[in-house]
Parts: sequence; C-alpha cells; structure tokens
Amino acid sequence: MNSEAHQKVCPEHLQRRAFLYVRQSTMRQVRENIESTQRQYSLRDRALALGWAADQITIIDCDQGQSGSSIAGRKGFQKLVTEVSMNRAGIVMGLEVSRLARNCSDWHRLLEICALTQTLLLDEEGVYDPSHFNDRLLLGLKGTMSEVELHVMRARLRGGLLQKARRGELGGRLPCGLAYGVNGQVELDPDQQVQQSFRYLFATFRRTGSALAVVKAFALEGLKFPRRVWGGTDAGELVWDELVYHRVKWVLKCPRYAGAYCFGRSRIRVLPTGVITRTKTKLSPEQWLSFIPNAHAGYISWEQYQENQKRLEENATQYRCQRQRTPPREGPALIQGIVICGKCGSRMRVQYHQRRGQLYPDYMCSLAASRYGHKRCQHIPGRDIDRAISELLLETVKPLSLEVAMAVQRDLETRLEEVDGLRRQTVQRAQEEAELARRRYMQVDPDNRLVADQLEADWNNKLRTLRRMQEEYERQKEADRQIFTAEQRQKILGLAEEFPKVWNDPDIADRERKRMVRLLLEDVTLHKGDKVIVQVRFKGGALRTLELPLALPFCVAARTKPEVIEEINRLLDEHTYEEIVEILNARGFRSGEGRTFNLSIVARLCKQSGLKSRRERLREAGLLTRIEMARKLKVPPMTIINWRREDRIIGHRSNYKAEFLYEPLSGDAIAKLKKQETK
Ligand SMILES: [Zn+2]
Repeated sequence: MNSEAHQKVCPEHLQRRAFLYVRQSTMRQVRENIESTQRQYSLRDRALALGWAADQITIIDCDQGQSGSSIAGRKGFQKLVTEVSMNRAGIVMGLEVSRLARNCSDWHRLLEICALTQTLLLDEEGVYDPSHFNDRLLLGLKGTMSEVELHVMRARLRGGLLQKARRGELGGRLPCGLAYGVNGQVELDPDQQVQQSFRYLFATFRRTGSALAVVKAFALEGLKFPRRVWGGTDAGELVWDELVYHRVKWVLKCPRYAGAYCFGRSRIRVLPTGVITRTKTKLSPEQWLSFIPNAHAGYISWEQYQENQKRLEENATQYRCQRQRTPPREGPALIQGIVICGKCGSRMRVQYHQRRGQLYPDYMCSLAASRYGHKRCQHIPGRDIDRAISELLLETVKPLSLEVAMAVQRDLETRLEEVDGLRRQTVQRAQEEAELARRRYMQVDPDNRLVADQLEADWNNKLRTLRRMQEEYERQKEADRQIFTAEQRQKILGLAEEFPKVWNDPDIADRERKRMVRLLLEDVTLHKGDKVIVQVRFKGGALRTLELPLALPFCVAARTKPEVIEEINRLLDEHTYEEIVEILNARGFRSGEGRTFNLSIVARLCKQSGLKSRRERLREAGLLTRIEMARKLKVPPMTIINWRREDRIIGHRSNYKAEFLYEPLSGDAIAKLKKQETK
C-alpha cells in the first residue's frame, strides 16, 4: 500500500500544498471523542511521510461542532473547496473522505473538482487519485457501503421502535396525572389530590367551554395545579403551580388523558438550508403513526375529547376577530352587542330601519366589508330573531322557574363541595408533611445537635405552613358559605317568578330589557342559509338552537289577500283601472298595508301578481290600434278619432290617459261607413 501510495504522489502534487480537514459533528463529540480528533490530526504525519514539508501543510479545523450534513455554516469546508478549485492543493486529507464520498453531496462535488484539478485524497486507508477510474470506483463503492450500513442500522433501530409503537407498547414519559402501575400498565395517578385536580379541570371546561374560563375558575378558588418535574435532580417530584392558560390547552389537547395511546402526532422535516433547520408539523389523528383509543384509563372519554377539540377550535376562530361584547344601548334590538356571526366569527352590528314610525333591527356582519372591502358576510332582519329569543327566555324562565333555580343551585353546591374537597386535601398534605418532620426530629439522636437543630427548624417550618393552610381553608370555606344564604335562595326563587312580569312590562326601557338578556345569555350566534339558525348560549353553558324561516321582504310580507287579486283579475276583463279602484273601494276591500285602493296600488298589484294588463287583454280580444284601424279602413288616422267621437265606431281604453283600441268592423259595416262619408 505504501509503495502504491508513493507511486501516486508525483512532483507536481508535492509542489502544491497539503490540506488536512478536521471536523466533528457536534460539540459533544468534540469534547468527548478525543480519540477521533487525535486520529484526524495524526494524518499530518502521513503527509510528511509522503514528502510534503511541514510548512506546506495547512490544517483546517474551524468547522468543529458543525454537522456534516450541509455545507451551510461551514467556512472551513468552503475554504477547502476554493483552494482545490484554484489548483493550489496537491492532496486533501480527512478521516471521512471515503465514508462521505458517496452520500454527502458536498463531498461528492469536492471529489469531482479534485478529479479535474488532479488533486489526491488521503484517509487512514490510503491515497486515492480521483482522476483514476479504479480509485473513483473504490471511493464510490466505499461510499455506497457506508450508506447501506447507515441505512440498515437506522432501519433496525427505528423499525423496532415503530413496531412497538404500533402495538402501543412503546413506553415513555407519561404526562402528569397518569402513572405506570405495578405491571407497567398506565393508570391514573394514585395521588388523590392530583386526580381530583384533573377531574376538576375537565369538568370546569365542560361547564364553561373556554380554556381561559378554567384558568379564571382555578384562580378564583385559589386552587393550584400539579406538575411533575422532568429531568434534573428533582425528576419525578410533584410541584403545585398556578394554573396557566397554555397548560390548560395542553392538557385538553393531550389524547392520553382520554385514555388513548398515540405516537407520532407530529412530523419533523429537515429543511435544506436556512437558520431554522427543521420544521415540526402537527398531524390530524388519522395521520398519527399509532393511535389506539381506550388503551388505558383516562379522565375523559374519547368522545368527550373530540368534543373538547371542537369547542377549542370554535373558540379559536372567535379570537381572530374582535369579539368583546359592547354595552347595551338604546334601541329595541334585543341581542345587540352579543351577536356573533356564524360564518366568520366576528361580532355583528345592528342597523335599524324605520317603517311607519317603528324601528326594526337588522343584524349585519360587515367587518370583512368595511376592513378589507370584501362582500358583506351576512345581513339578517332581526324582528323574528328578537321575537324568538324573547319567547325562548320566557319559556326557559317561567314554567320551569322553581326547577331551574333549584337545579342551578344544586349544581353550584356540588361544585363548591368539589372545590372544598380539593382544598381539604391540600391541608391534609401539609398535615402529613408536618407529621413526617416531627417523626424525623423525634428519631434523631439528641446529642447530634447540628442535625437535631436542622430537623427542628424544618418541623417548625412545616407547622407554620400547616397553620397558614388551615387558616386559608377556613377563610375560603367561610366565603363559600356566604355565597348562599337563605335570603339569597329566596331571591333566586323570587326572580324566576317575577321575570315574565318584568319582561312584559311596557314601561321597562329597551336598555333594561337588554340588560336582563345579558344576565341570562352569554352570546347568540346567527347563521343564515336556507333558514336562519340561531344558537343561544346561556350563562351556565347550556346551548339552545332555534331554526327560523327566512324573513320575507316587506312588500311580500304585506301582500294583499289572494281573493282580492283574484277579483282584480276578473274585473280587468271588463273594466278600466279607474273603475276597478271604485268597485274595490265600494265593496270595502283593503290593500295588504290596510289602505284604500288607488290607481298606483292596483297597477303595482297587477304587475307583482303577473296579471295580464287591460291593454293586453283588449289586444288579445282582437281590438286594433288607431293606425291599424286607419289602414284597414283606408282613411287618415284623424278620421278614426272623429268617427269614434260620433260613435260611428266603438273604442275602449285601459285607463283615462291611455290610447283607445277599436273594435274591428265587418266588410258590410265598412262599406256602410264609407257610403255615409261620401254623402
Ligand atoms: Zn361574518
């Protein structure tokens, strides 16, 4: 090998410089894999042996800790390529020459440049001349082999992992609230307080429908939420923190709490270049690598989980646009300020239009129109909606008055009990810890002063914490008790009975009525399609859906009765419009708006109802216009007018302004007329 190596090195190689490229992929390798680094530097001796002088050898080692997978960010390698392509390098040395020659495109390109500039390559195995076919073949083969090796290794490792994951047996870190049992099965955390906290979180979300509301509820009750420490010296320790928004969202989105085993919920893709080298894409449940519902115990069912996801998604669309409620203003629109567009999720505005001195609300979503110049999203007449909501409120509050109030109260009481249980557990925990500290102190040898003092201080601390917690518990309990006095119970019951009376009181201002709506309703979502779908969300979280038919346009809604139209149709055959007006009014008919008839109303009704006009009817009956008549009689048109005035021919007209239409004459009659004229 050595003699062969010497054969490949020619004087023209020795005239140029030798480059030694030293690199480690990660800083950890740089720190720990010193052997490899030493091996890389020792290649320098090989160059000396082959005939290069010490000052001719350049070491490029500024790429330490840079991955070899891409040229990006590797200044040293770029310098190396430049030197080779400028024909200044006689030989390039590196440990990874043959290994990377095939599967790393950067190295492969370097090889091609080496072949063009007749530069030699050297690694631990020997010297290669890329311009020689045999050496190129060898480099290629070695590269392929190392690629295969890598592939097989990865396939074995990852394949085993995936198989295990598909069977649902690939364990891993469990989220707080779940724990491995004795036989390795996943169970709810044996700590009752942890369990209760999770149950309370899910129940609160179910009740309020909002992650932020859960955070608020925990803060209001002064409850903490558990977390297990990951890594470090305290790994596995239970820590109690304030509940924050992103934690609630994380818990709600984690399928493990629904008892589902899943693996591969996101995909990581390596980007070609750039500062961010990889992206993480979240996948939908169908795309998850492994998904086994009901694989282990959970806090909620899978159906409940899916429902929660839907709820979260709906909330998310609502955050995109302005969503805050506006205060109730004057004007009769009942749900002004709490209407949400069912199409885009933004808040809908109210516009009033006046008809005969009365205000009618229209609910409209024009955010997209006013902000981006798009088409107006929705425009829904509000009269029917307001009426329906008013009915719904009366129906919900009145007949069920007592039951509703009692149910609400029961619900509130059970919730208070739940919270109380959680608080009691906190006190219990403090008690146990104090007891433990006491026992430790008792067991210590009194002569061991230092340790005993420390343990005593510890015990005192624990006792102080316990007292603080007990006080806090008593204070909260007292506050809870104050929430429901007998007087307040009576008030709730009274309100349910009073509500319809107050609601229907005409002296109550619109603004007050709207305030009442807001006390009962959270918001109302409107969606106009084939019909108007009204989703009413009550304060307690209950949802009611109403379906209303589309409101008819005013002219249609105020349409004249069909029998009147039928009568007009009949009269039109014989009478002019003036006559019809007189006949209808005389008979006591009224228009849809309740008015007496006039010419324009009759004309409009005919047009809207698609009735044939009087003129059309006369023409159909064969009556002729003046010009047609004049042509037929072969007389000037003026003569026709005169003859009609003299009643020698008969004319009809549709109204007093319209042109006459003439009854056609038989041959004899024409001859008779002409004879009279010539006389
Ligand atoms: Zn909209």
